[in-house]
Amino acid sequence: MEKIRLQKFMADAGVASRRKSEQMISEGHVVVNGKTVREMGIKVDHSDKIEVDGMPLHSEKKRYILMYKPRGVISAVKDDKNRKVVTDLLEDVDERVYPIGRLDYDTSGLLLLTNDGDFANLLMHPRYHVEKTYIAKVQGFLTVEEIKKLENGLKLKDYTTSRAKVHIMSKDTKKNTSLVKMVIHEGHNHQVKNMFAAVGHPVEKLAREKYGFLTLDGLVSGKYRNLTRLEVAQLK
Ligand code: URA
Repeated sequence: MEKIRLQKFMADAGVASRRKSEQMISEGHVVVNGKTVREMGIKVDHSDKIEVDGMPLHSEKKRYILMYKPRGVISAVKDDKNRKVVTDLLEDVDERVYPIGRLDYDTSGLLLLTNDGDFANLLMHPRYHVEKTYIAKVQGFLTVEEIKKLENGLKLKDYTTSRAKVHIMSKDTKKNTSLVKMVIHEGHNHQVKNMFAAVGHPVEKLAREKYGFLTLDGLVSGKYRNLTRLEVAQLK
C-alpha cells in the first residue's frame, strides 16, 4: 500500500470525516509510532502503529461487493425490527461494509456494498449519473402518452424526475399486467414505484437488473461476488 495522509487514513478506517480527523490530529489525540502528531503533512500506511485517544487503529482492507439482493431483506446493516439485513447474507466478509444506496425491502436485484466511504459518496452523489435498469411488473397497459411522461420527466411530490428510458417487454392480457424495463439515472426513495404510480400503473414487483455496466450475470439470488479492480476503477 502506498503511504497516504494521516487524516485520510483515519477517515478510511472509519474514525471520523477527514476534516474532523484533521481537528483530532491538531488537538493532539493521535499518536503515530509512539509520538503525538499535531501537524498535517505526515503520511502513513498499514506498517505504522497509529493510536487515537490511546486506542490502536486497525484500518480495514477495502471491499467492493456486488450482491443479488433477494426480496424480503432490508438494505441496511441493522434493522430496528430485527428483520434480515443484506449484511446477514455475507459469509466471509469481516470488513464493515454497508450498502451503497438502497433497494426496497420487496425489491430484488443488484446492490453494491463497500467499506470505502469515498467510493460510496461518489456513486451516491446526485451529479454522478450512473444508469440503473429496473424491470417492473405493473398493473395495466401503458399508453404512448404515459410512456412519454415517464421518459420526459414527471413532477412527483418533492421533485421532478429527469429523463428516463421505458421499454414495454410484454403484456399479460389475462392478468392485466405489463412487464416494463425502465432506465433512470437518479436514485430517490421509491422512485420507480412512485413514477409508475403517478401515471396510474402501480408496481406489483420490482427488480434492478443493471447498475451502470454491472449485471447480475453468474449470480443467483442471495449470492454475491467481489468487484474486480478494473470494475472499481471504471466506476470511479
Ligand atoms: N425504485 C423503487 O421504487 N424501489 C427500489 O427499490 C428502487 C428504485
